Amino acid sequence: MDSGRLALGPFVDEFENKFATACGTRHAIAVSSGTAALHLIVRALGITAGDEVVTSPYSFVASANAPLFEGAIPVFADIDPRTYNIDPDRIEDAITEHTKAILAVDVFGLPADWARLREIADKHGLLLIDDSCEAIGASVGNMPIGSLADASAFGFYPNKQITTGEGGCITTNSDEVARLCRSMRNQGRSDDRVMSHARLGYNYRMAELPAAIGCAQLDRLPELLAKRRAIANLYVELLTGANCTLPRDTAGRSWFVYVIEISRELPPGKRDELITALQARGIQSAPYFPCIHTQPFYRDELGWRSGDFPIAESVSERTLAIPFFPDLSEAEVRYIAEIITELIPT
Ligand SMILES: *Cc1c(COP(=O)(O)O)cnc(C)c1O
Repeated sequence: MDSGRLALGPFVDEFENKFATACGTRHAIAVSSGTAALHLIVRALGITAGDEVVTSPYSFVASANAPLFEGAIPVFADIDPRTYNIDPDRIEDAITEHTKAILAVDVFGLPADWARLREIADKHGLLLIDDSCEAIGASVGNMPIGSLADASAFGFYPNKQITTGEGGCITTNSDEVARLCRSMRNQGRSDDRVMSHARLGYNYRMAELPAAIGCAQLDRLPELLAKRRAIANLYVELLTGANCTLPRDTAGRSWFVYVIEISRELPPGKRDELITALQARGIQSAPYFPCIHTQPFYRDELGWRSGDFPIAESVSERTLAIPFFPDLSEAEVRYIAEIITELIPT
């Protein structure tokens, strides 16, 4: 506040430099939200009306909306029931002569199968987009998430691993994609200072205040991720007697939310009963994710139906997010695990 520079100043530059270093990419472009990041990626890659983008039905709605902003069509491929990520074995069935890109999501911070995705994209001459909004700090081997696709989108809403209040970032190794994203986030200017507009653009800029918060948050990223991992480890230890599947742990995972799946032996309605029973004991939980293709507007305007993606739907009926944030105390985790075990014993 004291610096007098509240927009397009040094904190945005610093945040972008730190972010590109963290992701091991040539470029990072800070924007106003994860959704803005996805939209600019779609435009910068030249995806346009009538193009098809193969993506996951089990995600937050923004990943499938991004192609729609440009009149492109999200075409879903069902998920792997073990990882909840798009199943590479189902992608080729969804590819047509109109397919331009694969947009995969690292759901709940677990990296998608990027080796297979790259193989399929290269084989069919497709672009590869990573919705990595839930996966900052994740990696595949020694490659950070953010460096694996042609362009990747991150989001910093308060529930994410790091926050700027609202905010987002694009990472890419392409000079051209970076140049277009920088221009389009700032009204299509060819240069940040001039009043000459080279192309259609938006106001998707990140302001200095959120960028300053982002710099401080990035410094704390290892600590914040370690706290989340410790809580995840405690849940694994304490939920052994509960009749549910716990999320996969891998070395490269960045813990975003803690989503459990009630056992397939239990009737699916049991998930909602569990949510209500937890609420009565003072524990908040929520169905997470509802499938994108069964959202009212995807059903009514785009013609998708229940039954179209049976694996995503069966996972979606049985999954719930339980409390998960860095300052959750050990006593609270113990209480939550005890109640869940009491409500759905093995
Ligand atoms: C959070 C999130 C987004 C959108 O980010 P916003 O900053 O809220 O616009 C997009 N995709 C996924 C998978 C997300 O979790």
